[in-house]
Amino acid sequence: MTSQEKMEKVIALAGNPNVGKSTVFNELTGLHQHTGNWPGKTVSNASGLCSYRYTNYTIYDLPGTYSLIAHSQEEEVARDFLCFEHYNAAIVVCDAVCLERNLNLVLQTLEITDKVVVCVNLLDEAKKKKIKINLKKLSQILGVPVVGTSARSKKGLDKLVETMDDLVYQKIKNNPLHPTYEPFVEQAIEMVEQELNKIEIHGNTRWLAMQLLDHDDVPMMMDCQLETMEDLQNKIEEARILLYHHGIVQGHVKDIFVSTLMQLSENICHEVVTYENENYMERDLKIDRIVTSKKIGIPLMIALLMVVFWITIVGANYPSELLSNFLFGFEKYFLQFLEFLHAPVWLSNMLVFGMYRVLAWVVAVMLPPMAIFFPLFTLLEDLGYLPRIAFNMDHAFKKCSACGKQALTMTMGFGCNAVGVTGCRIIDSPRERLIAILTNNFVPCNGRFPALISVITMFFIGFQSSVGTTFLSVVLLTSIILIGIGMTLFVSKMLSRTILRGIPSSFTLELPPYRKPQVGKVIIRSIFDRTLFVLGRAVSVATPAGIFIWLLSNIQIEQTSLLQMCSNFLNPFAHAIGLDGVILVAFILGFPANEIVIPLIMMGYMASGTITEYSSLMELKTLLVDHGWTWLTALCFMIFSLMHFPCSTTCLTIKKETGSWKWVGVSVLIPTVIGIVFCFMLTTFVRYFGII
Ligand code: GDP
Repeated sequence: MTSQEKMEKVIALAGNPNVGKSTVFNELTGLHQHTGNWPGKTVSNASGLCSYRYTNYTIYDLPGTYSLIAHSQEEEVARDFLCFEHYNAAIVVCDAVCLERNLNLVLQTLEITDKVVVCVNLLDEAKKKKIKINLKKLSQILGVPVVGTSARSKKGLDKLVETMDDLVYQKIKNNPLHPTYEPFVEQAIEMVEQELNKIEIHGNTRWLAMQLLDHDDVPMMMDCQLETMEDLQNKIEEARILLYHHGIVQGHVKDIFVSTLMQLSENICHEVVTYENENYMERDLKIDRIVTSKKIGIPLMIALLMVVFWITIVGANYPSELLSNFLFGFEKYFLQFLEFLHAPVWLSNMLVFGMYRVLAWVVAVMLPPMAIFFPLFTLLEDLGYLPRIAFNMDHAFKKCSACGKQALTMTMGFGCNAVGVTGCRIIDSPRERLIAILTNNFVPCNGRFPALISVITMFFIGFQSSVGTTFLSVVLLTSIILIGIGMTLFVSKMLSRTILRGIPSSFTLELPPYRKPQVGKVIIRSIFDRTLFVLGRAVSVATPAGIFIWLLSNIQIEQTSLLQMCSNFLNPFAHAIGLDGVILVAFILGFPANEIVIPLIMMGYMASGTITEYSSLMELKTLLVDHGWTWLTALCFMIFSLMHFPCSTTCLTIKKETGSWKWVGVSVLIPTVIGIVFCFMLTTFVRYFGII
């Protein structure tokens, strides 16, 4: 049989967050999807192919969820897939270290489908903690196959695939355990189920009946709407009354299901799990007591942030210099090459001084800090530190009537605001999600870091690099970040007092166990998944932007270039907020990607021709100072860089996530207005008191 003739089958991969589901998925499909330690990494279904024996399996990696009952977007995605999509089997991945909590999802999945393979992952960790699981007995109790794996070291995965294949081709008989509820609950379920069976319906009717008893907005996946089915509606009402007589009100029916399943999970674990060392959590608890303590938690967080910046700044200096020497040194050969091709002078100038220079800057200045920052950040993520940040920040966000999980989406924003905005899906309440989306831009993404670092170096530290000066730049950069975090909290509070009024919802944040990060993999993953991705995006924007600004600065009308015209027009306003027209034009043209703001400023100034070649920050400073930059300009530049409209990708993501241009408008206006007001006040103050 050739691969074209193979059978096609579909597998759903489900599991709680952080159980190694993505690792299993990657190993089975050979994909390299980014894995992370906080909930909500897989926010939509990713799919991959796995070929085994005579079958091509398409595996769908469902979002990590604790249950299929509640209402967060991820749970809905997972639930809808399991309920309504066609698949041949579902693999539910569990964490062997905390099997009890994971069994809840297994039992819920068994309510929906019979075709289940349970994958008990992280067996190596369980072994280290002296936790033993009787997989055979577990399989007997659940009535479905159970396979033990250590996905990270690829152990047990062959068996998993084999079992999946056997199940799909019915070589294994499944006789799944279905939890039974109290008789009156069963009766209520049956009443609705019978009615559902009368209409043509796609999906598991028992499960649907249970959902319908609890709430109205259950997707039915059929042509007719619930409102149009009077008989069904009446039956649901009747069944709800039955439950009501037993003291269960609508909206709390799911609590019965959940508590029954939890009790069942506990009983099962009692039978199959043995702890040789009851204090297996001791080490993690000890660390958590320090890392999340009231006194040390937040200072430690700031100290860690500073260490990351320190390593980034110190580490990036030298390679940055090497790269810029190399790239700018290459410029003349590029020019000679174009001359050799007899390219017209304007074209050579445009390609070399426009496109190439912006490109070279972006690569030389962005690549080194990114290549250091991203792996460090990923390392912290892999270690399990990020959920601790959310835990520490929870109180502050609650006080602002926002959600503690916003701290996680905020940290995601350090890498890229668009990723941060998408990550907001982990927040269940729509009000709190919107707050998190609208404020994500207050943490500078990686596109803005290099500009901030360069300006700090040029205007506040000087070029003599020593421990003292580096420390100062780290403190300055950290302060800028802290201002950003402060603004996030302030704006969240303002929003929840005004247009997004409401009380904060409560949530249980799981603190996953600390895991030894796989350094090699982290580096490779962060370089390929993040660094090159972000750099690629910046470069693809820098190329046309370089050409565009060159044209703007070289097309002249009555001896004034278009760029000069724009900047002259913006000058009075820009001057009032401590900037100048060219800087403002650069910010506006940098809308597609923040990374190109500084090179655009350079181009803007160079067009008026004082300096011909950039080779170091020192020369750049001369260029800037020659064009009137003072420390005030630098400070206002940094503030405006922190607080201005999100880049185009982030705006589009906000549109996608909120579904409305109105919220995009709000997210553009808030930081921009605040940035302008801040800069204006600072400039007016400094000028009024003649400090400058
Ligand atoms: P997901 O959130 O369920 O997709 O989990 P991930 O696949 O992102 O894994 C979370 C962390 O657990 C990562 O650091 C993985 O390297 C690690 N991990 C996954 N499987 C195993 C395993 O079998 N053993 C150990 N020790 N670590 C694992």
